[in-house]
Amino acid sequence: MILGGTLMLPGRGSAVRLARGTVEVKGSKIVAVCETDEWGTLDLGGEGCLICPGFIDTHLHLPQFDSIGIDGLELLEWLDRVIFPAEVRWEDPDYAGAMTERVLDQLAAFGTTSFAAYATVHHEATKRSLEVIAGRGLRAMVGQVLMDRHAPAELVRPARQLITEAAALVPSGRVEVAVTPRFAVSCTPELLAACGDLAQKTGWAVQTHLAETRPECRLIDELFDGTAYTAVYEQAGLLGPRSLLAHGIWLSEHERSLLAKTQSIIAHCPTANLFLEAGSHDRALLRQSGVRVSLGSDVAGGPDRSMVRVGRAMIETAKNRGAPPPLPAEAWWQITQGNAEILGWKEVGSLYAGTEADLLVIRPTAGWTDSPDPLGALLYGWDDRWLVKTLVDGQVVYAAAAE
Ligand SMILES: [Zn+2]
Repeated sequence: MILGGTLMLPGRGSAVRLARGTVEVKGSKIVAVCETDEWGTLDLGGEGCLICPGFIDTHLHLPQFDSIGIDGLELLEWLDRVIFPAEVRWEDPDYAGAMTERVLDQLAAFGTTSFAAYATVHHEATKRSLEVIAGRGLRAMVGQVLMDRHAPAELVRPARQLITEAAALVPSGRVEVAVTPRFAVSCTPELLAACGDLAQKTGWAVQTHLAETRPECRLIDELFDGTAYTAVYEQAGLLGPRSLLAHGIWLSEHERSLLAKTQSIIAHCPTANLFLEAGSHDRALLRQSGVRVSLGSDVAGGPDRSMVRVGRAMIETAKNRGAPPPLPAEAWWQITQGNAEILGWKEVGSLYAGTEADLLVIRPTAGWTDSPDPLGALLYGWDDRWLVKTLVDGQVVYAAAAE
């Protein structure tokens, strides 16, 4: 299969660049990428089309996709009143499987082909969800949410049971398992330490939340006798190059250097921070401190499923802080190659021969090819209806209605 048009290719540093050319796909792999005006016969794309790697979301919650937009609540109250009741429904594995199918349909229609996700505390539901994702051929990491306190009784389990269940999850296809303690508020020190041991033993990635809101940080201070939030995770052995900590807004200088030293990743979720009024994330300061920063939608804390809008919100958050904002070329890089590299997924996120064929065919209806800044025109003029095809592992998994 040959796709052609304007290609989004790796640029210098943290940026992408555009060039006219073709992408040849055989089976599940990209076998050739050519920069050329000579297209010949194309199977997909054409004049005015953008061929782009699939978007990568480094933080989302699968059971929360029906809970988008319930506004006016602070994080801890929002969890109690909106999110925990939604997650209780995953007690039924059939419901969880069907909801995962619906979520994957939505993600394909928004161009997201890989992601790091939380399921719920339910073991059977998590297994079912993982099977559904693997069955669709997606590259992802998924974890059973681990909580042994500070949540409704239906969502709390003894630490030992949770660790046994989490350890019994099996990676499948392109899907990895992630050790996923929700956050230190809902985990005892014993559970956190057991999570650290499990991550060490299995080599699995770790997902959790860190310092999203001030009330959350005050609660951590009470629960852990004044130990700094980041140090709580360090003491449990939960920091490292495959530790993905969402938010990281309210951090001290010492905590930033701890994150840098351990090469831990902060998943910046700008749309969620705005929606829940959590605070303003300082991406520039974290990066200057040597912290690795990815980008995530955090649905349903974040109301936007489109990583393009999350990329734009990353720029807007920096502008609101008065910090030098990332340029559109960096936003496009972050939601593709940047997020892939940070998760260790060299097989996706950029158009190279030998990588997995997770691709988007985009047909913008607004002028962009003649713009002095085509990447800016695409980012700020973005319309999800421009996405005409989503390919995963070389297969079309979404086609716009008119196609
Ligand atoms: Zn989250």
